[in-house]
Amino acid sequence: MTHKEKAFHLLHQQYHCSQALFGAFAEDFGLDLKTALKISTCFGGGMRQGGVCGCITASMLVLGMGFGFYDSQDRELEVYGNKKTDEFIELFMEKMGGCVNCRDILGKDISRPEEMAAIRKEGLILQRCPEAINASIEILETILEEYLKKVKESSIRLEDIPKNHEVRNILKGKNNIPDFRRNVNELLFASSRNIAFIQFDIRKFKIINDIYGEKIGDEILDFIMVQLEECCHKKQYFVNLRSDVFMVVTEYEEEQELLELIKQLNSRINSFKDIKLQLSYGVYTVEDREMEQRQMEDRAAMARKTAKNNILTNIIFYKEQFKLSLYNKKFIEENMQAAITDRQFMMYLQPKYSIAKNEIIGAEALVRWSHPERGMIYPNQFIPIIEENGFIKKVDYYIWAEACRFIKRCEDEGIMTCPVSVNVSRVHLQDNECVQMLSEMIEGNGISKGLLELEITESADDQQISLKALQLKEAGFTLLMDDFGSGYSSLNILLETPFDVIKLDKKFMENMMVSGKGRMILEQVVLMADKLELGLLAEGVETKEQIDLLESIGCDQVQGYYYAKPMPEEEFFALLKKQHVMGAS
Ligand code: C2E
Ligand code: CA
Ligand code: CA
Repeated sequence: MTHKEKAFHLLHQQYHCSQALFGAFAEDFGLDLKTALKISTCFGGGMRQGGVCGCITASMLVLGMGFGFYDSQDRELEVYGNKKTDEFIELFMEKMGGCVNCRDILGKDISRPEEMAAIRKEGLILQRCPEAINASIEILETILEEYLKKVKESSIRLEDIPKNHEVRNILKGKNNIPDFRRNVNELLFASSRNIAFIQFDIRKFKIINDIYGEKIGDEILDFIMVQLEECCHKKQYFVNLRSDVFMVVTEYEEEQELLELIKQLNSRINSFKDIKLQLSYGVYTVEDREMEQRQMEDRAAMARKTAKNNILTNIIFYKEQFKLSLYNKKFIEENMQAAITDRQFMMYLQPKYSIAKNEIIGAEALVRWSHPERGMIYPNQFIPIIEENGFIKKVDYYIWAEACRFIKRCEDEGIMTCPVSVNVSRVHLQDNECVQMLSEMIEGNGISKGLLELEITESADDQQISLKALQLKEAGFTLLMDDFGSGYSSLNILLETPFDVIKLDKKFMENMMVSGKGRMILEQVVLMADKLELGLLAEGVETKEQIDLLESIGCDQVQGYYYAKPMPEEEFFALLKKQHVMGAS
């Protein structure tokens, strides 16, 4: 039966609208109908006062169950849930001609006994209730389907989708999740030893099903259960949570024991026919036994998902940062577009100095994200994420445009203009857009090409760099090799790519300071730059000692906190203006 059929069946049996609606979804959440009807019966209270339609209240409950939000720390799901409940009400109003209250929908005041009696007599089925139920079910189905799709795609919070009906009852009777949880709960309460949750699944299980067929897929799962049974002793509990996801909870003394258990399990599971299975293991070692058991399971799940994306290891132990970094990523992905539209990205400028002249010779444009609620967000927190999804291109275009505007501003004001360098993410090196984009910006602002310099990071793929750098060079731009000395292929890139300036990475500087050998290398780099007729600039210079060393070996250009930190445009503009006035006098 469809949800609508179920709901109408209940309505015919004289249940009220919220019971019919919630009852129709009961099975999806593994609830028996009687419990669902009991839960939803109390929604009549608000309705009888002529308040919000029972279909809305029941739908909120359906969404709550559907999204499975229960962890107060899970801000991500909470925000998503709130958005979807708002969306529900909006769509409901659209379908119901702007009505949300029972009184408006029915056209009768059900807080008055005589009007209520009249409705009862006719039966709800004859009122507008079926229309409200239909509308609600349609919206709910769309929202829940979208959520399921989203969960499948992102593989986040998979464990929270209510799919009891999907869980295969492997080795009948032995795979009982409530029993498993009860046993684990007792263990957590009674054991004085360390306890760990190990969750694992099969990488690309879907593909295995596609290639070998679902029958073999099922056999693999049964085989794993048998291995678990043979491998685990009485006080080690295991369960098949769903599909190909398994959980083992065990006592241990040393973490090494856990690794050995995993190793043993892994080799047993890999003895299934000739099929090579890759498993990902996430381990959560319990610290706080007061924590809810489901939260412990979630942590093991989070570690497992991280292991899935790791090409170097298939075993990952849960760390506190996981939650934070997943949340952070989501936050950035959800807010980055608005940040562009609302101009939350800002250009900061960090001056570059000549040691000998003790004056500003240029600046680097660095992005800052000033979020209305979270405050200042620094590039290292969001650039790696937006480089992964390609959004960095938009941010870079924005900063490039800001830098051009600033150069134009200085020219217009007649103060000494110095070159401003911008960062060119390696994402730009994969297509042809950036050359044209930069040229257009230069022309659009009518500024000289020499004043906008480009920093390309040295750790990018060398062939790609060489090709694109060549094009940029041919287009007339000055190229700075960023972060020199932080990667391994710097020298190769130098040979192949027409850079104009080398920017020594701050790590390079730090290392150089600690030994005599370091100083020698630095001297050689200065000589090399000289021979190759390349400019040289040292980054991250923080101390007088570093300045003295650089000066003594002939490296004059520096950028770093010793002189100035990155600053807002106005501040830098004021500095330049001051220098200009002093130069003129
Ligand atoms: P980067 O290009 O190597 O930029 C230099 C970074 O070093 C800046 O960090 C700067 O604030 C910091 N820094 C400067 N002097 C010192 C110092 O004396 N000591 C220390 N400890 N740090 C110093 P920031 O602004 O946080 O930027 C970090 C990185 O993010 C940049 O490294 C760059 O790779 C990237 N980035 C920043 N803005 C942009 C942008 O607009 N586009 C792109 N694609 N990347 C950007
Ligand atoms: Ca840079
Ligand atoms: Ca750098």
